[in-house]
Amino acid sequence: MSAVMTPEDVVPLHLADVTYPSQHPLAGQTGVVLGFAIRHASGILLVDTGIGEGNDWIDENYRPVRRAVRDALTAAGLDPDEVRAIINTHLHFDHCGQNRAFPGVAIVTQRAELEAARSEGSPIRDWVDFPGVAHVPVDGDGEIAEGVSVLATPGHTIGHQSVTVRAGDGLVLIVGQAAQDARSFATGAADDSIRRLRELNADRIHFSHDRAVLRRRR
Ligand SMILES: [Zn+2]
Repeated sequence: MSAVMTPEDVVPLHLADVTYPSQHPLAGQTGVVLGFAIRHASGILLVDTGIGEGNDWIDENYRPVRRAVRDALTAAGLDPDEVRAIINTHLHFDHCGQNRAFPGVAIVTQRAELEAARSEGSPIRDWVDFPGVAHVPVDGDGEIAEGVSVLATPGHTIGHQSVTVRAGDGLVLIVGQAAQDARSFATGAADDSIRRLRELNADRIHFSHDRAVLRRRR
């Protein structure tokens, strides 16, 4: 594989559909849960892992239709055994739920996010910490592999992070859930994190809960 990535090396993975519960701002609507595989010269970097199994509260409230992340990788023509790192945008149940499918693989999360998940008595503690887990907490922005960086974009959670991928002379941005969807990212009210992400002027922009992909006109 060439060391120079292209925008097609960021592969969206459809990991689940949920139905939002009555107490949620999007009550009654269904929503998509996406993860992303970054095909990197050193292996696959996986951004978020979808929803795990075995949590009755989540199953009752969100009625998830989930897909095993390893199956999603295989369906995309990727080898799950080549995942060399997981990047969690944040530690909500629909973003880190299948980290457990990759014991021993480094999990890159903002330290503030990991500490909050542990101290708040998260309902999914066993999805965050499990036998063989290999957390690699980071503080703020940083390049985690050549051309792949995390950007601290707090707001949705205290330690939310977004991901950028250098693709040739362009840039691919994985917003995560710093914005709920493409429309609100492009035209909605912006907090500091969204302003910062907009200023990157990325060529392609992906979201965790919206299949739409924003493309910059050249
Ligand atoms: Zn979230």
